[in-house]
Amino acid sequence: MANLTPSDLKYLTDKLTVRRSELEAMVRADAACAGHDNLRRMGGEVGDPGDESAALQQTDLNLAEMEGGARELQAIDRALERVREGRYGHCAECGCDIPAARLDAYPAAERCTPCQTRHERVYGGRDVTPSL
Ligand SMILES: [Zn+2]
Repeated sequence: MANLTPSDLKYLTDKLTVRRSELEAMVRADAACAGHDNLRRMGGEVGDPGDESAALQQTDLNLAEMEGGARELQAIDRALERVREGRYGHCAECGCDIPAARLDAYPAAERCTPCQTRHERVYGGRDVTPSL
């Protein structure tokens, strides 16, 4: 943690914690909403096929959003774990110090920018902590 002062670390941990509760609320609300849609469909309320496909699309959208939220939530949990273990701020790939500016933009960042770029090239850029 060579490039982070204790107050930097506190600031970033607070940011992670706030974001975590936001995401948790969002994922929970979306899950409740999707459950409601499914119940209504089973009850046979959806009339013509046009309505049904629109309803299905909406559910897909919620699922995609929920998946993104859940993924970010996991990234944040991993980041908080690294804080506890004193490994926060080190790149998961090469072990270098992740620049403070990058951590400020993406507190859950697991990799330095070069490693993140390489990772996205390999895994198709679907990571929640895009490179700066
Ligand atoms: Zn790296």
